[in-house]
Amino acid sequence: MATPSKPTILVTGGAGYIGSHTALLLEQEGYDVILLDNMVYGHWDIIAPLLQAKIIKGDIGDRALLDFIFATQSIDAVIHFAAYAYVGESVAQPTKYYRNNVGGAINLLEAMLAASVKKIVFSSTCATYGVPDTTPITEEHPQNPINPYGASKLMVERILADTGAAFGLKSVIFRYFNAAGAHPSGLLGEDHHPETHLIPLVLQTALGSREAISIFGTDYPTQDGTCIRDYIHVVDLAEAHILGLKHLLQGKDSAVFNLSNGNGSSVQEVIEVSRQVTGLPIRVIECDRRPGDPPVLIGHSNKARVILGWRPRYPDLSDIISHAWAWHQRRHRPSDFSQMNLMRNPNLGEDERESLTCHPLT
Ligand code: UDP
Repeated sequence: MATPSKPTILVTGGAGYIGSHTALLLEQEGYDVILLDNMVYGHWDIIAPLLQAKIIKGDIGDRALLDFIFATQSIDAVIHFAAYAYVGESVAQPTKYYRNNVGGAINLLEAMLAASVKKIVFSSTCATYGVPDTTPITEEHPQNPINPYGASKLMVERILADTGAAFGLKSVIFRYFNAAGAHPSGLLGEDHHPETHLIPLVLQTALGSREAISIFGTDYPTQDGTCIRDYIHVVDLAEAHILGLKHLLQGKDSAVFNLSNGNGSSVQEVIEVSRQVTGLPIRVIECDRRPGDPPVLIGHSNKARVILGWRPRYPDLSDIISHAWAWHQRRHRPSDFSQMNLMRNPNLGEDERESLTCHPLT
């Protein structure tokens, strides 16, 4: 009897942070992967040596390329990560976000439907909820995004629902909370340019690449006055995507899931755990609140646990930070960072530029 062929999965944005971890896991689980990434924020050098996949440098805005891919490859399903994801930049350059995140998704969906590919896993975000009324946030919480990034993701969620109703397209939508950590091998991890996320910035400070980490707000109504977020390990996110894909390949219905640990850590706690993990002092600077930051974002993720059987393997903040630390030490040298962020992207939103003009803490 012939062995059944392995499903072939197109991963858009597969050279990015969460996409690359998912592509690697897909291959480890026996799927054939075709990876499409425009390499604007993705890293060819990190992912290419780790995969057997066909890697295509191209943009989801290129309909002819998408049609060519679907015509020449027998694709069973798509996992769609390709998107811009800088909140501040989305405020400064909204059309860039709507064109790429929404226009690109429409292009992809039309190419999929033309090729009769009707299964998609979509990477959405807790930013679609905006400032929550209740916590932990369930999937039923009203979605009122407060920036164009969150709005662009919400629009795609709605397009998926409408496309499902009109054409029978099935989707699994994942709303992530704060993706963090790195592959336990140390071979894969987060490398954003510019970097705006807390954990990588704290670890760059530990490495000596930054003078200090700015704490954006110390007067929030939380135990230590700093913002609380629900950090979720990137490998746990990747595993959820495989489960979501299996859900669709088994012919099950469209669904939306939060992906989170269901508990929060404050900025101060992240810094303290980072000091313990690295064994290094990490200088902090107290700054004003960053505009648009809700005090507490914690996700309720029982639905993914019950329906998909998802179980986060690395829920502890110390594991998340240890894995990130191994990756950062391997990837970066202090000299790599001098002013690199602003040089690479001078259009960054003001709130995403680290200010060292706040109040140093001794
Ligand atoms: N944060 C901070 N200093 C930084 C970067 C982030 O204090 O240099 C805070 C930010 O205000 C938020 C938390 O850390 O409360 C997580 O921010 P991040 O940008 O990593 O993720 P977000 O929650 O914005 O998606």
